[in-house]
Amino acid sequence: MSDDPQNVVVVGASLAGMRAVQAAREVGYTGRLTLIGEEVHHPYDRPPLSKEYLAEGDLTTIHEFPGAADLAESADVDLRTGTRATSVDLDAGIVSTSVGTVEFDALLIATGVRARRLPGTAHLDGVHVLRDLDDARNIRAAMDARANMVIIGAGFIGSEIASAAVKRGLEPVILEAAHTPLVRAVGEAGGAGLARMHSRNGVDLRCGTAVSEIVGSDRVEAVRLADGTEIPADLVVVGIGADPATEWLDSSGLTIDNGVVCDETLRAADNIWAAGDVARWTNPLFERPMRLEHWTNAGEQAIHAMENLLNPDEATPYGHVPYFWSDWYGQRIQFAGIPIGEPHIVEGDFDSDNLVALYREGDRLAGALAVNRRGDIMKYRVQIAKRGTWDAALAFAAKRSAANASAHA
Ligand SMILES: Cc1cc2nc3c(=O)[nH]c(=O)nc-3n(C[C@H](O)[C@H](O)[C@H](O)COP(=O)(O)OP(=O)(O)OC[C@H]3O[C@@H](n4cnc5c(N)ncnc54)[C@H](O)[C@@H]3O)c2cc1C
Repeated sequence: MSDDPQNVVVVGASLAGMRAVQAAREVGYTGRLTLIGEEVHHPYDRPPLSKEYLAEGDLTTIHEFPGAADLAESADVDLRTGTRATSVDLDAGIVSTSVGTVEFDALLIATGVRARRLPGTAHLDGVHVLRDLDDARNIRAAMDARANMVIIGAGFIGSEIASAAVKRGLEPVILEAAHTPLVRAVGEAGGAGLARMHSRNGVDLRCGTAVSEIVGSDRVEAVRLADGTEIPADLVVVGIGADPATEWLDSSGLTIDNGVVCDETLRAADNIWAAGDVARWTNPLFERPMRLEHWTNAGEQAIHAMENLLNPDEATPYGHVPYFWSDWYGQRIQFAGIPIGEPHIVEGDFDSDNLVALYREGDRLAGALAVNRRGDIMKYRVQIAKRGTWDAALAFAAKRSAANASAHA
């Protein structure tokens, strides 16, 4: 079709951006393709940064995506690393960057999120966040110097960092403001159950703890709590969540509200699409707006967004069952769906690091949490995708449980 784009620009050269440009070539797009990323590295994978990279990796390792280094040769992609998009003019079809302007007739926004920092700590050495490779290198170097380590935030990233630190022989303290961690991700009982993994592995997790100050003049010396307690620290890692990287879109006219707001097809405006951690779209499968910070979504959503971008007249809705995993102390935690209410344990228990728990919304199976049940979680994810009922999920769980019991008899 003559109106189909011939000059596509993708901003954000990480998982979503990389998958998007690869998908464009896979579906036969032959026009211009530019991938703009502010990092100097070729696109690389982030999950290993808080896991093997901190725990055991070689400091020179980069988990580059396959094909990332030769995108120009293999996919005719104009990859511009070290280039930060600073604004976009939608009417003119121009992205301004730190090194000049780039024209487009269709744009895919994939700028992800930025880790939240503690206000007033920018001048202090030894206070880190973990979002990119350079962050991971700095944290790893401090861990190798056998730092007194405090982690602020007991979410998934903070917990993975604690687990890696233990593996390296450190004794981190985790400070969590909420009385129970991860309530929004897995419910109150789910968060409390998972949090016990820290104490089982000898980590001092202090919940309901407000940090009042990071003490130090040039470099961190301690973390002071609201009750006056000071915890000595020469390495503080802040894991208190992330915000969508949308500052470059502030004057664009796009709707920005906890991410780039898109319709069901991932369209933010005419010829403007978004995918990955930065995108907030209405998920038709759950009939509600969502913005996910999950690896699986970023890749799948980017492929879908690119296919719609290249064929906008036949754009299709993006329905997705959220899925993420996290690794703590050698245990694999997985979640599929959405955590409505409290988990109903159908097999195992938290304290044996082996469990399946389900979440319901009305008559429907809404979510599933698993610890060390890699074979089970995807089966529940399929049921959620099919809008399976709660009763069917319980019947399925009973069958699995009986099968597992006889396998171990
Ligand atoms: C340490 C860590 C561990 C994780 N572990 C897991 C896990 O175990 N399981 C799981 O499901 N998910 C995990 N995730 C989440 C997963 O990695 C993300 O969902 C995924 O990286 C999102 O991809 P993205 O491309 O949308 O965004 P990002 O990976 O955030 O990439 C966005 C890119 O855009 C660039 N950018 C931003 N602004 C601009 C601009 N103005 N101009 C140019 N470029 C710009 C950024 O520098 C970045 O390179 C983890 C994330 C981190 C940080």
